[in-house]
Amino acid sequence: MAFDAVFVGAGINSLAGAALLSRAGWNVCVLERSDALGGCIRTSTELTEPGFTHELLASWHPLFTGSPAYAELKDELDRRGVEYLNTELPTASTFPDGSSAVLSTSLEANVAELDRHTPGDGAAWEAMFNEFMANADLSFGVLGTELWSPAGLGLARQALRRFGRRGMLAFAATVLTTGRDWLDDTFDSEAARGLLAPWVLHTGLGPDQAASGFMTQVIACALQLGGMPVPRGGGVKLVDALAAIVRDSGGELRTGAEVERVLVSGGRATAVRLATGETIPATRAVIASVTPTQLYGRLLGSGDVAGEVVQAAARYRYGRGEMQIHMAMRELPDWYGDERLARTAIVHLTPGLDGVSRAVNEAERGLLPAEATIVCGQPCAVDPSRAPDGSWIIWIQLQELPAGRVKDDAAGELDVGDGEWTEKLREAYADRIVARLGRHVRNLERATIARVALSPRDIETLNVNLVGGDIYGGACSLDQNFLFRPLAQTPGHRTPVDGLWHIGASTHPGPGLGAGSGYLVYKELTKPALPRRVLSRVPAVGQRLHRSATSA
Ligand SMILES: Cc1cc2nc3c(=O)[nH]c(=O)nc-3n(C[C@H](O)[C@H](O)[C@H](O)COP(=O)(O)OP(=O)(O)OC[C@H]3O[C@@H](n4cnc5c(N)ncnc54)[C@H](O)[C@@H]3O)c2cc1C
Repeated sequence: MAFDAVFVGAGINSLAGAALLSRAGWNVCVLERSDALGGCIRTSTELTEPGFTHELLASWHPLFTGSPAYAELKDELDRRGVEYLNTELPTASTFPDGSSAVLSTSLEANVAELDRHTPGDGAAWEAMFNEFMANADLSFGVLGTELWSPAGLGLARQALRRFGRRGMLAFAATVLTTGRDWLDDTFDSEAARGLLAPWVLHTGLGPDQAASGFMTQVIACALQLGGMPVPRGGGVKLVDALAAIVRDSGGELRTGAEVERVLVSGGRATAVRLATGETIPATRAVIASVTPTQLYGRLLGSGDVAGEVVQAAARYRYGRGEMQIHMAMRELPDWYGDERLARTAIVHLTPGLDGVSRAVNEAERGLLPAEATIVCGQPCAVDPSRAPDGSWIIWIQLQELPAGRVKDDAAGELDVGDGEWTEKLREAYADRIVARLGRHVRNLERATIARVALSPRDIETLNVNLVGGDIYGGACSLDQNFLFRPLAQTPGHRTPVDGLWHIGASTHPGPGLGAGSGYLVYKELTKPALPRRVLSRVPAVGQRLHRSATSA
């Protein structure tokens, strides 16, 4: 059977893209090599104890609820029972001396909180928020536009009209600022800097990398505006609902279906071949949610694209590794210090900006950081249904681990052996992290029922796109980001092969659950043909076309 579009991989970009295309009348097929749909969304009720629902990998959905894909699909998702829960306390940082800073969804509360640490930082926050929001259409536009396209040029023209030439240069300079420079220039207190610096990690960057200041501002404002939503019952609810939209439109989703080749005929992608030998034809598009390494080094043949593209893809760099620690607790956590920590979705344990910088640097030099940033997620603070009454779940992320082999331990405590992520090394490192968390949560040890750690190697085993445990599908440094993602040789989502599209975290706008690349490709594929677009600009014709489209 031939499909209009065949998706390779069933991550959020594929599922959202497939659901949107299905609604537009396309007959789609989604092929997933693993035994579950969802990619990085992996909800498990079997990881620790009965009654505990864990997100093995991705957990927090602010990027999805703020996305255009969600805006278009919301009514259907609502009807299928996807319910987003939220919190007024999206994040906090707690420091080694037991003090903390908390960010809420209220501007007034945030001003007061930052002033509590250092008078004047509240006003600095407010000024930052207002300035950012004045140009939010451009900032969010960078992340929501196909940059290598007429739309990207349109965005640049819009910025030019607004700022003028010199102003635009100044705006571009702001976008390139590092997190360190932006935080140092904006806030006086270490607490404000330490509250925001860990968020740089969630963009795949470190605080001393270009553009990390801009990304920190995007996140800071998004946290205040959007909180930290999660679907009631786990990300699987979203995955199931998206899959149901596809199925109900006649589409097909298959797990255990490993694509090993995109078949190209006359310069056009016409089908995919599975590892079993089965061929699945695609009449209009093949949409691959894979890394560039896999796309150009495995799925395509050597003669399908120019050698320079294949070589560039082979040089594509992966970022730092990551570890997850999941804990089930029989009691609620009893945090030392600020009582709000127990109600906060994501608490960062960090020495502050310099601590994040040091840990990133150690990881990039191949070392286990001496004092990692501990991202302590508390899903039950938003969705109590994730654990039995009176009990709790902890979802820990450690984003500062070496890409590849571990050379040594910066603390000089752990024997890293030959640098492979053995079970022994994983558990020893997890012990160190949990011991640190125990200095902030009084009852941690007593209340823990079960703990499961996933090393970078385990994470790659769960999802082949997370090479070396890089949870962001490729380093997000400037030369592999924005216009240059995935490759300067193939910017955007079109590939050199007609009818073959590249989506997923390795492509613009990069990682996260925003479904941005799936949405951009859906828009491109369903764009009216050029004559129709030109005609639709003539008001009378445009109205007629609109009427016929909506009545169809
Ligand atoms: C541990 C972790 C925590 C995270 N936390 C968050 C979070 O809380 N919030 C957030 O917004 N983002 C988070 N992220 C990032 C975010 O989840 C990812 O960037 C995003 O989900 C990637 O989606 P994707 O569409 O690129 O596809 P992926 O989710 O990467 O899925 C791709 C799928 O393609 C399949 N595949 C690959 N090759 C083939 C093939 N040849 N044939 C068939 N199938 C194939 C893979 O098996 C996989 O299932 C997290 C990521 C990780 C790993």
